[in-house]
Amino acid sequence: MRSGANCLSWDYTIHRGPATWASSYPAAAGKKQSPIDIQTAGVRYDPNLSQTPLHLLYMKDSDYTITNNGHSVQVSRSSGSGYQLSGGPLLHKYQFKQFHFHWGASDDHGSEHQVNGKSYAAELHLVHWNVDLFDSFESAVTQEDGLAVIGVFIEVCEDCPQMIPIFDLLPRIKHKDDKYRMKTPFDPSVLIPCTEDYWTYSGSLTTPPCSESVTWIVLKETITIPSKHMEMLRSLHGYPFWQKPGANIVDNFRPVMPLNGRIIRSSFT
Ligand SMILES: [Zn+2]
Repeated sequence: MRSGANCLSWDYTIHRGPATWASSYPAAAGKKQSPIDIQTAGVRYDPNLSQTPLHLLYMKDSDYTITNNGHSVQVSRSSGSGYQLSGGPLLHKYQFKQFHFHWGASDDHGSEHQVNGKSYAAELHLVHWNVDLFDSFESAVTQEDGLAVIGVFIEVCEDCPQMIPIFDLLPRIKHKDDKYRMKTPFDPSVLIPCTEDYWTYSGSLTTPPCSESVTWIVLKETITIPSKHMEMLRSLHGYPFWQKPGANIVDNFRPVMPLNGRIIRSSFT
């Protein structure tokens, strides 16, 4: 996932990409980094997770802005209240802040997490912050137990119906820093498949500052989007309109990081 903080420039290229982040963002060299490869043979089933199911309370309204931030497409809420996530591995209530995507240059890679070494074409991250312990997203983002992020793997289909309404808006945010305030009511829960089966572990932001503040909840069930929508993501420009043309946004994922003895728990056997 990404935070709003972006004091030093970074990207996914050789020169300023993931292998260089730790020199400017020391947390990136920590022992609880994300993403990871979820090796299912080592996952520990935790029956407590299914006894207190994940609870998601989203509502439909038009308080959303879609932004091309040069690294991804992000859909953020401007106001705070409502939209709570709790249950499962979470000991507190978390409030929805934003969602964004990571994707590859082709359909055989692009997700941040992997399952037994398998990558998906893309991954959706829905970012929530702990409203019990913190008074703002900004204060929660770098702190332990500050964030809970739901990760959803995305697969590509040829002729499936359009799954995600926000893709219609991508032509309005072609360039870095383009923003568009949504006019029709939207409910983020349309992006979320069944939440019963998931893996959870303690990790980090996958973009600088890579703070180890995230309880990850990676859903087992995937969603699918039409291949034409993957192409729309890949045609977004990573540079502002006033700059001479540069690269499109593709392969905006961090490679998997070592588990370092962390336990991955599952809500299912
Ligand atoms: Zn992300």
